[in-house]
Amino acid sequence: MTVLIATLIGLAIVAGTIWSIRFISAGPPPEIDPETVEEVDVPYLCTVCGMTLTVTEAQVGAEIEAPRHCREDMVRAV
Ligand SMILES: [Zn+2]
Repeated sequence: MTVLIATLIGLAIVAGTIWSIRFISAGPPPEIDPETVEEVDVPYLCTVCGMTLTVTEAQVGAEIEAPRHCREDMVRAV
């Protein structure tokens, strides 16, 4: 039984190490091209605490995904 537990722990360590090496070798995400960012003015409201947030820049042509606050999606406050 002890050998089985030790083997499982060893396999978990090996799997975690392989995952870490793959994650690190993938490198950082690509730099954002400033040409693909446009100025916008989209206010959002947190329905839980009432905080408002304004998105000022977003990818050209991409739909703006609502940010989250208080673990909930914020609603567009227009
Ligand atoms: Zn909130």
